[in-house]
Amino acid sequence: MTRADFPEPVKSLVGELKRLPGIGPRSAERIAVWLLQNPKADPPALARALQTAAATVRPCPQCGFFATAAGCGICDDPQRDDAMLCVIEQATDVLPLERSGAFRGRYHCLGGKLSPLDRVSPDDLHIPALLRRVDAAPAGLEVILALGSDVEGEATANYLAELLRGKNCRLTRIAQGLPAGGGLEHADALTLLRAMQGRRGC
Ligand SMILES: [Zn+2]
Repeated sequence: MTRADFPEPVKSLVGELKRLPGIGPRSAERIAVWLLQNPKADPPALARALQTAAATVRPCPQCGFFATAAGCGICDDPQRDDAMLCVIEQATDVLPLERSGAFRGRYHCLGGKLSPLDRVSPDDLHIPALLRRVDAAPAGLEVILALGSDVEGEATANYLAELLRGKNCRLTRIAQGLPAGGGLEHADALTLLRAMQGRRGC
């Protein structure tokens, strides 16, 4: 007697699901069974959505955000402030900034951050395109570096600051400090140091 297992099509589905980030073998099986058995599941709709998204969504050639052949929701928006360019690591970094409502300018996605350990060098990032955008911008451009506060983010910000210094733009970095709702007793020393350095008049 051979031990029974899922038939091949289910195994193949589980195998694909397992490749998704954060999905282990057990979760992959649970999702596969749900998709095949739950009356609310609509596997063809899921397959169509996946195919359409994969076939039509591309990085915007200008800013790097998600775009389609119809254009980019950021670059094509005439209401945005052309005098502000926010430099971010990943295209997904746009979303928290947009949801905060704190920024109404343009974006430039680097596509990563400098990391010698992961062999990410300046050549791997969209830095030449950034320099071209800065050079082509009208006078009075503010370039805001909104990079992570980890070692790689810091190194990337310092590298860009060096490159952009002397260009026709004002260079700023987002402030770093305490998270909303957090007291001083929970903050680590580096966060407190940056909060102190980033203090402003009140
Ligand atoms: Zn764009």
